[in-house]
Amino acid sequence: MAMTPHVLIVAGSDSSGGAGIARDIEIVSAFGLRSCLAVTAVTVQTHSAVERIEQMPPELIAAQMRAAFAANTVAAVKIGMLGTAAAIEAVGSVLASNPQIPAVLDPVLASTSGRVLLEDDAIDTLRRDLIPVCRLVTPNLIELAKLTGSVPAPDQESAGRQGEKLSGSVGTAVLVKGGHAQGAQAVDVLLQPNRPAARFEAPRLPGGMRGTGCMLSSAIAASLALGVSLEGSVRSGKQYVFDIIARLQ
Ligand code: PLP
Repeated sequence: MAMTPHVLIVAGSDSSGGAGIARDIEIVSAFGLRSCLAVTAVTVQTHSAVERIEQMPPELIAAQMRAAFAANTVAAVKIGMLGTAAAIEAVGSVLASNPQIPAVLDPVLASTSGRVLLEDDAIDTLRRDLIPVCRLVTPNLIELAKLTGSVPAPDQESAGRQGEKLSGSVGTAVLVKGGHAQGAQAVDVLLQPNRPAARFEAPRLPGGMRGTGCMLSSAIAASLALGVSLEGSVRSGKQYVFDIIARLQ
């Protein structure tokens, strides 16, 4: 049991099961791996509204992470909702002590229903204390704009430029998700310092399923935990989430 590779999920719970930890665990299990947990926040949600958020104390989040590392063979970390700058600092400091373990950060800023899930003044802390110790960050176009201090990119070229700017300034790979863009193809672009950009295309599916960002970052983390390269993990993660959404059409 202790030797089975685990993915450490550092994220918030969602009572509706549409996003957050429940989704993350489903995906990690589907890749044949086990999950361990550091709960950052408990949220009361339906599929259409976030009714309440209870933030966990930063020291409790860090203690959960250290215990998860001590108890298991953690092969990758997935980070979702963090909530506050203090939570980001706590997670960043535990990750900095475990630099050999790849971490994938879904920079969750708000719910689809519009509720803020990360304090606005925490964006700088995310960029300074957490993204540099992650292997990959997976912003959508709105999150990318906030992280680069820009307006949401109107086209793929400017999204690519914002992604390059972020990746170059923090030294971490950035997967720009094109899900919020227009066009028949949903295009994601992987930008890494000193590497050519890699494009991942899939037909755009109609409908607005919740939790897709949680699922994609968990699938990439699970694939990294299995020893797959970053580019291979992004490809298989995207395919996996596409197949789930397509089955629900
Ligand atoms: N609730 C939690 C706990 C989350 O982690 C997230 C996204 O990561 C959301 C809600 C928002 O999900 P959605 O925008 O798909 O509703």
